[in-house]
Amino acid sequence: MMAHKCDVCGKRMREVDDIDLQGFLIRGWRCACGNAHSNSEDVDAIVKFFRYVRKNKTVSIFKAGNSLAIRLPKPLVELYRLSPSSKLLLATKESELIFKIPQT
Ligand SMILES: [Zn+2]
Repeated sequence: MMAHKCDVCGKRMREVDDIDLQGFLIRGWRCACGNAHSNSEDVDAIVKFFRYVRKNKTVSIFKAGNSLAIRLPKPLVELYRLSPSSKLLLATKESELIFKIPQT
């Protein structure tokens, strides 16, 4: 990413990946003066995801060999930057299946 200049104080901003946007930690830049800029790609991914889940409340299950696989919709894949080699941590809670993103 390019060097980012603060629009408040004019100093160079530090690249970070912990800007909280609606509970999602996204990439961006933070300045010593307290100002922060969000990465617009990450903001777009969150907007697209919320737009998608407003209309789509389910995911599909399909057969993959002897197992079943869950189809993850594109807005979710982009939001969490998943790829075919991604690993998710599985947890269960009563009637919930929980997939956690491993912390790197
Ligand atoms: Zn600043």
